[in-house]
Amino acid sequence: MSVLEVKNLNLGFNCENGFKQALYDVSFSIEKGKMHALVGESGCGKTISAMSILRLLPKNAVIIGGEIYFNSNNLLDLSVKQIQQIRGSKIALIPQDPMTSLNPLYTVGDQLLEVIKIHQNINGDEAYKKAIEAFDMVQIPCAETRLKSYPHEFSGGMKQRAIIAMALACNAEILIADEPTTALDVTIQAQIMNILNEIKTQLNTAILLITHDLALVGENADEVSVMYAGRIVENALAREFIQTPNHPYSHALLKAIPANNTDKLETIEGYPPSIQQTINGCKFHPRCKYCMDICKREVPLMYKVGNEHYSACFLNE
Ligand code: SF4
Repeated sequence: MSVLEVKNLNLGFNCENGFKQALYDVSFSIEKGKMHALVGESGCGKTISAMSILRLLPKNAVIIGGEIYFNSNNLLDLSVKQIQQIRGSKIALIPQDPMTSLNPLYTVGDQLLEVIKIHQNINGDEAYKKAIEAFDMVQIPCAETRLKSYPHEFSGGMKQRAIIAMALACNAEILIADEPTTALDVTIQAQIMNILNEIKTQLNTAILLITHDLALVGENADEVSVMYAGRIVENALAREFIQTPNHPYSHALLKAIPANNTDKLETIEGYPPSIQQTINGCKFHPRCKYCMDICKREVPLMYKVGNEHYSACFLNE
């Protein structure tokens, strides 16, 4: 059963030269104990889609349509106070750069205990026990000593683990991991992804992984949604997606993964459009080698191309 369901989310920005739409009918869902990856190039709308769930949006952003159901409640109907109660305790964010999420003036333990006290309404020994358990879960050794450390005494990987520990200590049902390994080196990336996988399996937590890295998707995700220029263009079980991608954009992304190429990486000609550009029809058509006349005029709907596999491309007609 889906713990989170985003349905037909439409969002735009009030810019100096008028309103510009950035998300078009974005729909996806996540089940408990599953990892759903939202992938695409920078600026495709994956982060703004995720931030819409927590309502952590820039001031000029406007949601103009859609629903976001969390345990059957539409988050878009909630007041600011109600969404603040869900943020951090039920749905937690693991940011790209852990450096900006920890206050350098307080020990990591003080910050973790503060979060536990606020979101779980427990104090003293019980909160301390929770903090130790959370550090153990994210494999921070010598938890009692490490709780007394300041952020500058932690490596980048340790800081990211501490952030994940904060989400765990609050029993978050959903983790939104926004490029959680981008700022880390390769071996630490693997450790963080292993920890997220353990959390998913052991605690039945749903994880929304925002990433531009399709290698991470193949190794970790259960489901994947590919975004291009504010739209989801392909939706599939991750294993099927990696083996039999359908959309020309997905093919191009997969060909750009180093492991799939023995000598030369293939690049995608051109650049994704900005929200200031108007492109009729399929927004990928200026970069697509299969472009047909209809692609320049009409927006392709999602075609069913396999078991739980959908692709927005006229080639499937
Ligand atoms: Fe290419 Fe047309 Fe498919 Fe868009 S709809 S990806 S332009 S073939």
